[in-house]
Amino acid sequence: MDNELDDLYREIILDHNRNPRNYGSIQQDDVVSIEEYNPLCGDKIILYLTSTAGIVEKIKFEGEGCSISQASASIMTDLIMGNDIQKASNLIEQFHNFMIDNDDSISDNELGDIDALQGVRKFPARVKCAGLAWSSLKKAIDNINN
Ligand code: ZN
Repeated sequence: MDNELDDLYREIILDHNRNPRNYGSIQQDDVVSIEEYNPLCGDKIILYLTSTAGIVEKIKFEGEGCSISQASASIMTDLIMGNDIQKASNLIEQFHNFMIDNDDSISDNELGDIDALQGVRKFPARVKCAGLAWSSLKKAIDNINN
């Protein structure tokens, strides 16, 4: 991969880190909130999600930690907002395929800016950072279904 592309990716991650989308909490009786922690890096994500009739109505997060973990949460919440739960589950699977199984059929998936995290795959410890938001989403969805 050439350096220009690396720089572009870095710029996307920095942008999400500086201006995180959907940052904050949701104070509502029916909110599902999940707190996830990555002790290897010190990253923390608290995910808030509300749903109606199988659709993710609102999704927000709060957190602290490295830019990869926070950018990943920002990108993830952007992707999931307004989608149905089934689609969200599909996206979790696509993220897993892309990030952990190194599946490069990325052009065929719908992960949007997650593409920018491609360089992270070379560093298994950082994959945990990127995955934190997604594992919290999975737990949130499991909570809705139960
Ligand atoms: Zn981290």
